[in-house]
Amino acid sequence: EETARRRNTYYAASQRKFVPFKDPLVFRKGSMQYLWDAEGKKYTDLLGMNVCISVGHSHPTVVNAAMAQAQELTHCTTMFYHPVPAHFAEELAATMPQGEEWVVHFTNSGSEAIDLAMVMARTYTGNLDLLALRTAYHGPTSAAQSLTGIAGFRHPGMPGNVAFVAEPNQYRGIFGPGTEPYLDEIERTIASATTGRVAGIFVESVQGYGGIVEMPRGYMSGAAERVRAAGGLYIADEVQSGFGRTGDNMWGFEADGVVPDIVVMAKGIGNGFPLGAVVAKKAIGDVMAEKFMFHTYGANPTSCAAGRAVLQVIREEKTQENARQVGGALLARLKDLQQKHASIGDVRGRGLMLAIEMVKDRRTREPDAGVTAAVFENCRAQGLILSKSGPHRSVLRMVPPMCLSMADVEVVAEGIDRAFTEVTA
Ligand code: PMP
Repeated sequence: EETARRRNTYYAASQRKFVPFKDPLVFRKGSMQYLWDAEGKKYTDLLGMNVCISVGHSHPTVVNAAMAQAQELTHCTTMFYHPVPAHFAEELAATMPQGEEWVVHFTNSGSEAIDLAMVMARTYTGNLDLLALRTAYHGPTSAAQSLTGIAGFRHPGMPGNVAFVAEPNQYRGIFGPGTEPYLDEIERTIASATTGRVAGIFVESVQGYGGIVEMPRGYMSGAAERVRAAGGLYIADEVQSGFGRTGDNMWGFEADGVVPDIVVMAKGIGNGFPLGAVVAKKAIGDVMAEKFMFHTYGANPTSCAAGRAVLQVIREEKTQENARQVGGALLARLKDLQQKHASIGDVRGRGLMLAIEMVKDRRTREPDAGVTAAVFENCRAQGLILSKSGPHRSVLRMVPPMCLSMADVEVVAEGIDRAFTEVTA
């Protein structure tokens, strides 16, 4: 009650109102894929605390690495040399496609990294116009908002020079399923809504807040080709889809064989420690050599020690492989539920980036935000934390820590099944 009073009195509405559940929920402890509230009730965290918890809540390897670094030297501003971020930059560059030289610029968050990628792309190409997808989410800073298509996240005063293209949503995209019509749309948009010369396109390899919209085969490489023909760069936003979450690959863009010019990452990179990064082809990343872009906490050694430990855990505990196997099992169970519950219109995703989408009628595919919200609340009562997303708030997104187990899959599937049975009875 005290926490609620303080929050309700002293938080601004922009932060205060962003509460998913009807009743307040105070988390006091986390361990791997589980959370405990103030009363000691246990939850399975299918939200991954907003996709930040890649390898597990308070994972001991990550916590110990960050604590050891914090005790030695908590912060060392980026104008001085420090071995930890330098080493981490080398390790991140090594995860990128071979045959290119990559350079890294550390930020504190995803949207700062998006801003920086926008500046890099515009500086490198000399062009101003950017393309983004209509149901994209790229972050809360003014510049990142200007690339964000979802209306609720857009506010007055955003910078311009962004043209939006239709997302290739295979379930409810305006051109139906397929890839080509969405690539034609990029060409048309470049011709009709830009100067004809563009700085780049930003694409989430799997859209997160957009409702787990996977880019269909050929879209990412086709988009890169069309944008490069107009002088622009291909920028992969891997803030949600990176670090092995999609199961098959370390990076979501690898599913299509495209080599991005710039890769933006955050969230899972630090397993909860504030950290983001832009990884760019060297010629592009080095274009700003004459100017400063100084993030005071960028390359902070405590966050970077956590980031190095995340890479270590991904390697040692085979979390990407776990995401592939456990995610595959969960997807199959969700598909069974689709057979049983008429309000589940679509089940989709890869690895541990999954979603179910609710509809009022399977034929018309009219989104059902009401059932979505009711199932979401019912799951909370059962100890399952999901996430409502998508432009119509009709998608339940599952992006748990990548240590989710086969035993959890049963608990989650049974809980969701029960929720639909109770809510739609
Ligand atoms: N890109 C994507 C795909 C995201 O989901 C987010 C955050 N939800 C961001 C960028 C912005 O990251 P941050 O909130 O760390 O600024």
